[in-house]
Amino acid sequence: MSAPVVIVGTGLAGYNLAKEFRKLDSETPLLLISADDGRSYSKPMLSTGFGKNKDADGLAMAEAGAMAEQLKAEIRTHTRITGIDPGHQRLWIGEEAVPYRDLVLAWGADTIRVPVEGDAQDAIFPINDLEDYARFRTAAAGKRRVLILGAGLIGCEFANDLSLGGLEVALVAPCEQVMPGLLHPAAAAAVQAGLEGLGARFHLGPVLARLDRGENGLDALLSDGTRIACDLVVSAVGLRPRTELAAAAGLAVNRGVAVDRQLRTSHANIYALGDCAEVDGLNLLYVMPLMACARALAQTLAGNATAVAYGAMPVTVKTPVCPLVVSPPPRGTDGSWTVEGSGADIKALCRDAAGSLLGYALTGAAVQEKLALNRELPPLLA
Ligand SMILES: Cc1cc2nc3c(=O)[nH]c(=O)nc-3n(C[C@H](O)[C@H](O)[C@H](O)COP(=O)(O)OP(=O)(O)OC[C@H]3O[C@@H](n4cnc5c(N)ncnc54)[C@H](O)[C@@H]3O)c2cc1C
Repeated sequence: MSAPVVIVGTGLAGYNLAKEFRKLDSETPLLLISADDGRSYSKPMLSTGFGKNKDADGLAMAEAGAMAEQLKAEIRTHTRITGIDPGHQRLWIGEEAVPYRDLVLAWGADTIRVPVEGDAQDAIFPINDLEDYARFRTAAAGKRRVLILGAGLIGCEFANDLSLGGLEVALVAPCEQVMPGLLHPAAAAAVQAGLEGLGARFHLGPVLARLDRGENGLDALLSDGTRIACDLVVSAVGLRPRTELAAAAGLAVNRGVAVDRQLRTSHANIYALGDCAEVDGLNLLYVMPLMACARALAQTLAGNATAVAYGAMPVTVKTPVCPLVVSPPPRGTDGSWTVEGSGADIKALCRDAAGSLLGYALTGAAVQEKLALNRELPPLLA
């Protein structure tokens, strides 16, 4: 039998690529390899599970076996690839060599861990996949107070969701506003106020310095001297694309695994997409770009070399207490902001000198304007 197309990763990138590929080619052997249990799930739903009272099994959509059947693929679960040998078109799973016709890296991003002193570091939970979520749900049973580290998109979504789930939320982050870098300060203030209305308390500026077990749960000491009593900690301080194995194999790596518009790495027959990939300089950790990449790469793998293009890709942030849609101005553009509205309803627009729309942040009632504004936005990768 000829060597299979091998996809490493069964997240949204790996599974969507496999689905798109099977629409075009139902015969070529397909092998998916995943370090996790291979269940199909939608990662964005992880930050909605408490509000909907869904545990990890409730968020899972299909077992690996069902996916294998649907995709006419072999899926190896709980299997971690340990190396790539581009010269011989094979990869390593420990001592086992697996040949590939084409290899696709869809192995995602790792959560960043920040160093913390104290004896309760095992009470800090990252939530970056279904298994993390299951662990956190188990630990949270019967608990009341959660400290969230990080005020980015994911930290804010968890602040909203855990509050809806009945937990008391405190959030600490070393920045002046929520979602710095992504969001105009006026919109950030609206979102923060919405979350505060749910009872979340913000400590913006300091970091968590120590976490110790106390008599009554955990004792968190912030760098500004504030002490917070809590029962568990969620870490949402950011993600780093997984690049180590690619770099070790000699593939070009920058912030992510570097690929061109055809999702080709620096080595023949090796491609990358999803959170691990930096596509023509852009590493976007969202679903929309990875879906565009999956469609283009499926064509290429089926013999019809295709480049990916990104249109505008606004991000809907799941903070239902204060609806938010944001489309940051593309890198390298230079615009100025105007802000309309007040309170929860903010419309912040960024335009260039000629008046063309570059980006926006819409909160509250202003999100209704997104469709009209989207038509004016520039593409991210033309
Ligand atoms: C809480 C949360 C909420 C989000 N909400 C949104 C949202 O609302 N909208 C949006 O657009 N995006 C959202 N995102 C981002 C989005 O979910 C990700 O961009 C997307 O799921 C990434 O998919 P992926 O397949 O690239 O990576 P992953 O889903 O991380 O998949 C990586 C896969 O690779 C496997 N793997 C890793 N290393 C190895 C190895 N060495 N060997 C074998 N297998 C390996 C893993 O086991 C896994 O199967 C959210 C993310 C989080 C964490």
